Amino acid sequence: MSKRRLLQLFPLQSHSILVKQSVCGFRGRRQYQQTRSVHHFPLNDNEEHNVTRLSSIWTPTGGITAEEDEHDTATSLLVRAGYIRQAHSGIFHMLPFGLRVQQKLEALADKHMKSIGASKVSLSSITSKSLWTRTGRYGGDHSEFLEVKGRKDSGFLLAPTHEEEITSIAASSIKSYKDLPVRLYQISRKYRDELRPRRGLLRAREFLMKDLYTFDETESAAHETYRKVSEAYRGFFKDLGLPYEVAEASSGAMGGNLSHEYHFLSPDGEDTLHCCSASGCNYVANEEVSPVSFPTTKNDSDSSPQPQAVTCPKCNTSPPTLTAHRSIEVAHTFHLGTRYSHPLSATFKSATGAVVPSQMGCHGIGVSRLIGAIASLKCTDIGIPLPSSIAPFQVVVLPAKNTPEIQDGVAKVFQELSRSIGAEAREKVLLDDRDPERFSLVWKLKDAGLVGYPVVVVVGRAWEKRWTIEVIFQEPRKQQGPKRMEVELDDLWEDVAERLAGWEDVMWN
Ligand SMILES: [Zn+2]
Repeated sequence: MSKRRLLQLFPLQSHSILVKQSVCGFRGRRQYQQTRSVHHFPLNDNEEHNVTRLSSIWTPTGGITAEEDEHDTATSLLVRAGYIRQAHSGIFHMLPFGLRVQQKLEALADKHMKSIGASKVSLSSITSKSLWTRTGRYGGDHSEFLEVKGRKDSGFLLAPTHEEEITSIAASSIKSYKDLPVRLYQISRKYRDELRPRRGLLRAREFLMKDLYTFDETESAAHETYRKVSEAYRGFFKDLGLPYEVAEASSGAMGGNLSHEYHFLSPDGEDTLHCCSASGCNYVANEEVSPVSFPTTKNDSDSSPQPQAVTCPKCNTSPPTLTAHRSIEVAHTFHLGTRYSHPLSATFKSATGAVVPSQMGCHGIGVSRLIGAIASLKCTDIGIPLPSSIAPFQVVVLPAKNTPEIQDGVAKVFQELSRSIGAEAREKVLLDDRDPERFSLVWKLKDAGLVGYPVVVVVGRAWEKRWTIEVIFQEPRKQQGPKRMEVELDDLWEDVAERLAGWEDVMWN
């Protein structure tokens, strides 16, 4: 076999041999122990097992300035904090911290998809033009498709969404009403050749979506599925811990006749919602489907939403209660009916023996878009205080210096964390053990502010003087008491956990 062929088959062979030698060989193990022994802030074996050291994660923070089209604050902070890098216009790489945030969102989506009995799949990013032609979506303007050229015109596209492919799988697999309902979802990359990608992850050419596709026997069963999915989506957003709006929406190019969007209100958003403030009304609609329009003033060239209220079409309350707000759309649910099952012949034999198309729904959450949207909602001029639900770590421990006394304090903090939460500490708490000679406490505090860990724990002067730990909450809330406090070592996790849990209560009460 030629060397080239071998490399095609095993492109990482030489690399994996190296890894094997260093991980499994005796020599490798000794090297690992040597590496451990040079750690600043040594811990004993039990605590070492329950710690994540920042020195073991590649986090290129600071230093980098955002590129020209990353100018919005949130995107440049995501770049500077070491979450993402821009590869090309509208194309981004996730770095280790960005990936951790992404994986937390994925785990949250998995949890709520599991709650409605959806099975996870992973469809190819490549889809065939012929399927898209059958549903009428590949005709006329092709400009937003990224086409795959290959050796000749291969007839493939990079999938912007997967209705066609998944309906084609259903067509070949679902034969009887007894096979229904079917709920399939995936979390995968999607592609759209945006003319002007902008605002970083909010409008990118490649993006990560959670997309769920549902197949039901009858329209009423499909509506019941839609209700369950809506419940799961509300659970997902409640777990995120950020206020959101559910808006009546237009089905647009998707087809179907029932659709809702999930939005964060934000002056930076590209959408506009009409929201009613009358008690008990809850009317929220995208302006695209709202029957009312807001008067625009002469100077209003960008037609920004107007501050004044108009009469709500649902409750007609007087004085007027409907106001318009900019917002960022982060999720969408659609009842599709037979929009795709009919042209792609995804039919089954019903209880009466008739052959009928499945009643479908599709439901998306923009995973990478959520990262951009949350960063945009939360960013300040110094960093991105992230919600504890998705922050790469909930707590960072900063030793003020490398003296025996502070080393002892750090060891005691991790003994206490091991006692109170055990191995969970590894996922929740990060020890910033980077060389204190190279990185001062002031620098590390700024860096922690930039990354936006919800809680910063300092082992420093308070420890030297009073054996107490200084705790800083990056996003102080009136209801939650002071931004900084000193706590006794024994109460450390209890106090931190109480405030982290308080986040949700504060948001929802
Ligand atoms: Zn109303």
